[in-house]
Amino acid sequence: MAARQRATLALTLKFANLPYHKRLEEFDFTAQPGLDRRLIEELATGRFLSEGRNIILLGPPGVGKTHLAISLLLRTAELGHRVYFTSALDLARRLSKAVAENRLHRQLAVFTQPKVLVLDEVGYLDLEPAHASLLFQVIAKRYEKHQPLILTSNKAFGEWGQVFGGDAVLASAALDRLRHRATVLHIRGESYRLRERRQAGVAPAHADQPPTAPIA
Ligand code: ADP
Ligand code: MG
Repeated sequence: MAARQRATLALTLKFANLPYHKRLEEFDFTAQPGLDRRLIEELATGRFLSEGRNIILLGPPGVGKTHLAISLLLRTAELGHRVYFTSALDLARRLSKAVAENRLHRQLAVFTQPKVLVLDEVGYLDLEPAHASLLFQVIAKRYEKHQPLILTSNKAFGEWGQVFGGDAVLASAALDRLRHRATVLHIRGESYRLRERRQAGVAPAHADQPPTAPIA
């Protein structure tokens, strides 16, 4: 029985398109004192799955948004569900290629059928209008099916019009659906990478990206 569960999990993860595996146990909460640890632990129970509740992780680069998204995705897979990871840009490109090749329906299923979809890096690049409407289709379809999204973004909701190809109406329709049932986490604070470099006494790699806290 246990062996079968392990085999199923291995197969699920093989097709989950994860960039790397990071677990919640590896997340250093002391580095992110503003983050509500109990809320993350509540999410890790998987209750959001039956509630069809989205998880929205907002904050600047390097604060652990993707790490947390992957941890929660791994937890979901361990609970026996199908999961999938993609970035907003990757999703848009693959759907748009599918349109050109007349197989949109099948490609949409990749993003709408898994119990949880991580949609990473919404807003790192503004989408073209055609791409924005494809992203909207995924958001709308998952909303109808009560299938949660775990979304990460470096942009505040007020900036989403720009992200959605300059279409404020589409952005607000997407946000209405996403926020209707959602836990929104604002992660602030210093980039973990820069923090590690600072603690090692190394100057930041780019002069235009200084550490957000003064060097001790
Ligand atoms: P973001 O997605 O917010 O840009 P990432 O999740 O990619 O940031 O984090 C950058 C790197 O730093 C990753 O390797 C991640 O595992 C690590 N990291 C970030 N925050 C923490 C943390 N609080 N504890 C442990 N590792 C962290
Ligand atoms: Mg990230």
